Amino acid sequence: MPGFEVFGADEKKEVNDVLNSGILFRYGFDNLRNNVWKVKKFEKAIAKRLNVKYCHVCSSGTSALFSALATTGIGFSDEVIVSPFTFIATIEAILMVGAIPIFSEIDETLCLSPKHIEKKITKKTKAILVVHMCGAMAKIDEISNITKRSNLILIEDACQSFGATFKNKTLGTFGSVGCFSFDFVKTITCGEGGAIITNNKKTYIAVDSFNDHGHNHLGVERGLDDHNNIGTNARMSEINAAIGIAQLSKLDFILEKQKKYKSIIIDHIKKIKGIQLRHIPDVKGDSSTFISFFMPNIEKTKIVCSEFNNSKIIQYIYWYENKWHYLLIRCLNIYKKIIE
Ligand SMILES: *Cc1c(COP(=O)(O)O)cnc(C)c1O
Repeated sequence: MPGFEVFGADEKKEVNDVLNSGILFRYGFDNLRNNVWKVKKFEKAIAKRLNVKYCHVCSSGTSALFSALATTGIGFSDEVIVSPFTFIATIEAILMVGAIPIFSEIDETLCLSPKHIEKKITKKTKAILVVHMCGAMAKIDEISNITKRSNLILIEDACQSFGATFKNKTLGTFGSVGCFSFDFVKTITCGEGGAIITNNKKTYIAVDSFNDHGHNHLGVERGLDDHNNIGTNARMSEINAAIGIAQLSKLDFILEKQKKYKSIIIDHIKKIKGIQLRHIPDVKGDSSTFISFFMPNIEKTKIVCSEFNNSKIIQYIYWYENKWHYLLIRCLNIYKKIIE
């Protein structure tokens, strides 16, 4: 149940606060805004809920990833080990900083396989970008150990797994930075939006500055600050944050419902012959946004898909039909030629 299904009075009230204040910009206008600071409030609320020191919210999950990579020092021709099974934004973000995505195998968790990562590490490897796909976690403890052993930066794309945990620790807090998306179909939505979480103050300050053209927001009025860096505009507006605040307050309700429905559905589908459910390293921490499973062969897959089609209410995705990988390989070949 994504957040857009539970819009209601709370979202309207929060948005009205902003419209009544008249200030849609997250910075400045102190005297005019009637003390309405929705973006700031949203950031504080996320940090509190996820039990992390710092949160910066921005315009999308893609910009969260872009700024996370840029501010942890990943740049031109650096190699970033990443899962090929992801939404394309993960790869776009790596390309946006000029780095090279290096695909490594996934395993039965549908996320990076720790077993294969080490084979991909070269002198140019700078980071591992792990994607917690489809609502649940990678083997993040093992992957985190690899990054520590090999002195690599660990970034988590948890865009699809807001509110998920591993052994009671929030996904997004195992490495340097965790990234989330609040686009329209994610667990909670603010229309468009993203978040970066970190326990590192320097990283937080850098990301906060990067996503506002390099302005720092350290006390001096914006515009009069030392403007030593450049960045981009990936700011979130007050309206988006207002919706986000209302949605965040429903997160526990959403997670509880998802968990309940998922377990009922699993009780039924586990009777299908040959089905193998995705391995989830800590089932308690699953956000239960997806039910993912493997079928032993194409014939059985077709039968299951046609049953789902007949039901008319079950939405499903058959991942093998996803063609983005081919697009990526074509882009990468062009890109490699440029930097060689
Ligand atoms: C949705 C998503 C993104 C990008 O988020 P946007 O807010 O749509 O830019 C990045 N990575 C993954 C895994 C996603 O699912």
